[in-house]
Amino acid sequence: MKDILYLVVPCYNEEEALPYSSEKLLEKLNALISSEKVSSESRIVLVDDGSRDQTWALISSLCTGDNSLFCGVKLSRNRGHQNALLAGLDYARSRCDMAVSLDADLQDDIDAIDGFVEKYYEGCDIVYGVRSSRATDTAFKRGTAGAFYKFMTAMGAEVVDNHADYRLMSRRALNHLFDFGEVNLFLRGIVPQIGYPTAKVYYERHERVAGDSKYPLKKMLAFAFEGITSFSVRPIKFIWGAGALLAVLSAVVMLLLALLLIWFEISGLWFVALTVLLALGINLIAIGVVGEYIGKIYLETKHRPRFIVERTLPDSDTRQ
Ligand code: UDP
Ligand code: MG
Repeated sequence: MKDILYLVVPCYNEEEALPYSSEKLLEKLNALISSEKVSSESRIVLVDDGSRDQTWALISSLCTGDNSLFCGVKLSRNRGHQNALLAGLDYARSRCDMAVSLDADLQDDIDAIDGFVEKYYEGCDIVYGVRSSRATDTAFKRGTAGAFYKFMTAMGAEVVDNHADYRLMSRRALNHLFDFGEVNLFLRGIVPQIGYPTAKVYYERHERVAGDSKYPLKKMLAFAFEGITSFSVRPIKFIWGAGALLAVLSAVVMLLLALLLIWFEISGLWFVALTVLLALGINLIAIGVVGEYIGKIYLETKHRPRFIVERTLPDSDTRQ
């Protein structure tokens, strides 16, 4: 008897991509089942992250029928990709032996799943999908993503290079994922903390099958900031260092300026005004970064739920 695989797919306004991707995913799962790599009880979990289009209607129709391999989880509102993924993994973990998370636009090559499953049977609890090339992404996306991984590492957050949220996790790794109760969720940083035997599988990244990216630059920046401040206190240390450096530098400059004023009788007013503004600016940035951490502590102490499930399909599952 082979193990049960669940494919977990967060979907936000994916009515354009879903008809195609659901078909492809179903083909993949059927192929895995018929080649006896995974159990016939394996499923595809589509999580509707509070979409405003026809996404849930599409998911519902996929879930109907006696032999449907699809399940649906509808969140009560939009909670963002990370929380939607977590909701799907939560649904999957009591039902599966391993779960693979992937995006609805199928940018991540689904043929890599065979490799994931192989590694799982070899004893790996976590298998990371790593992009071997990003040729199909725009130069801008490639550049910003490259800078993102470098910056993350420099800031002290441990992430796997060129790995997004395309990965396989065994049931026990999933259960431990839920021991990390943080509200400020950055899965890419948490998963390496779990430990257990891990492996990497390389794949090519494709273009989105349909629809537009739901990650504009603004969201990407917010995500990077979330990642850094959730995993590292290094920025606070930098501020301390920058403050000390600034204090020493300004002391030296002031001494020089005093000498200049004595010798040349120039007006130091502009210089003074600029120095004050600079110091004020740096001060505000410092307070802002520290404030960001306090804000995180504030949110964590509230213990608010990370997602609320409104409905699950098939219907028999709704009585929780
Ligand atoms: N997504 C989500 N909630 C959101 C934004 C995105 O569930 O608030 C899903 C989206 O449907 C997709 C995945 O997260 O399956 C990745 O989003 P997208 O492909 O737009 O990001 P990109 O690949 O451009 O970084
Ligand atoms: Mg995408």
